[in-house]
Amino acid sequence: RKGTAVVTGASSGLGLATAKALADTGKWHVIMACRNFLKAEKAAKSVGMSKEDYTVMHLDLASLESVKQFVDNYRRTERPLDVLVCNAAVYQPTAKEPSFTAEGFELSVGTNHLGHFLLSRLLLDDLKKSDYPSKRMIIVGSITGNTNTLAGNVPPKANLGDLRGLASGLNGQNSSMIDGGEYDGAKAYKDSKVCNMLTMQELHRRYHEETGVTFASLYPGCIATTGLFREHIPLFRLLFPPFQKYITKGYVSEEEAGKRLAQVVSDPSLGKSGVYWSWNNNSSSFENQLSKEASDAEKAKKLWEVSEKLVGLA
Ligand code: NDP
Repeated sequence: RKGTAVVTGASSGLGLATAKALADTGKWHVIMACRNFLKAEKAAKSVGMSKEDYTVMHLDLASLESVKQFVDNYRRTERPLDVLVCNAAVYQPTAKEPSFTAEGFELSVGTNHLGHFLLSRLLLDDLKKSDYPSKRMIIVGSITGNTNTLAGNVPPKANLGDLRGLASGLNGQNSSMIDGGEYDGAKAYKDSKVCNMLTMQELHRRYHEETGVTFASLYPGCIATTGLFREHIPLFRLLFPPFQKYITKGYVSEEEAGKRLAQVVSDPSLGKSGVYWSWNNNSSSFENQLSKEASDAEKAKKLWEVSEKLVGLA
């Protein structure tokens, strides 16, 4: 049978390119889990995906109720779940004030981390039930959260501190930042990506042996053309793609990045669990090292416990 992969945020950028790459293999049915139904339908059509290769389902990661609703709706379809790709993200680098999810968490961490944390925890049961030979759960990471790289050292740097802001609810009353500091939209995004990478490793430690599911993260390269930068100042949006193309040489097209993520979904040679994948300049994949903070097992455990409380799992 065809595999079924759920891809969050498949209505644009990397998620859409991944959905397209998977559909093109003829081996996958893609569930496009998106907050904007019409946009997702149009996006699928615009890249030439055919009807039988995808289903759009509503998911707004900025609402835990919506996450639960998505899981219920998914179960009602009685489709098996073979791969989950946590890809959606918001980035608000120029925001002066924080905005908040339905439950009142700062939006970047609330969406990118907490929404996906609940989704992955709930859908793990469904993955367990699937009889697919290589079941995988993938959380898209980023170089920007990785302070052992050049890009990760551009200020403001990611830093979760002792998680005091997260533990106090991340609701803007005490703080809207994980480390308890002043709001900074760019840092909130990077922090959320560190959470994504820590969560993947904690999932691996807790569940890989018992379930056989492969847990992986990746940095697909700098896809300077996606909607992620839509809230950035116009000059940045103009200069960022050529800068990445010619100066840092980290630039990767949406199509190429989608193929990379699709490899992590289904390539037999990328089936190892607990790995953070990256690609070198000639597009071959390798197991990359994470920064000290993004591979701190103590912090991963603490993040897990605090996140469980916030999303109502503990
Ligand atoms: P895009 O902005 O193009 O795509 C983000 C997707 O997330 C969109 O489909 C968007 O939906 C969706 N989304 C945002 N908020 C929500 C929500 N509340 N509920 C459901 N879906 C939501 O950005 P990219 O494709 O660049 O980003 C995809 C992933 O790649 C992210 O995890 C990002 O961190 C990562 N990444 C990107 C890099 C880059 O250079 N671009 C580099 C490294 C990692 P909608 O279409 O409705 O807005």
